Amino acid sequence: MVKCPKCGTEVQPQKTWQLVAPLPDADGRVTIIVMGSFRCPNCGYSWRQKISTIKVGPEGEVEVGKAAKKKRKKKEKKKESSGGKVIEIDLSELYRDEEL
Ligand SMILES: [Zn+2]
Repeated sequence: MVKCPKCGTEVQPQKTWQLVAPLPDADGRVTIIVMGSFRCPNCGYSWRQKISTIKVGPEGEVEVGKAAKKKRKKKEKKKESSGGKVIEIDLSELYRDEEL
């Protein structure tokens, strides 16, 4: 629910529409901003404001709050896969071959 900035009455949007950002973000997701036009039934004030932000990527539509949690999981996976211990063992075996 959105509150009237003049009197604080909770107002439902009369009309909603979407604004699509021209450039995707760092994760290749397209940002869609949901806008709404409101008219307060109490004081008659009318205004427009952002209702929510949605990011659309390979995984489908994701709300901004949920997307932040998914980003943390991706970073954890990268750390697990980039362990350098296996590469160090391979290099030591190569040096032994040269010495022989
Ligand atoms: Zn009002």
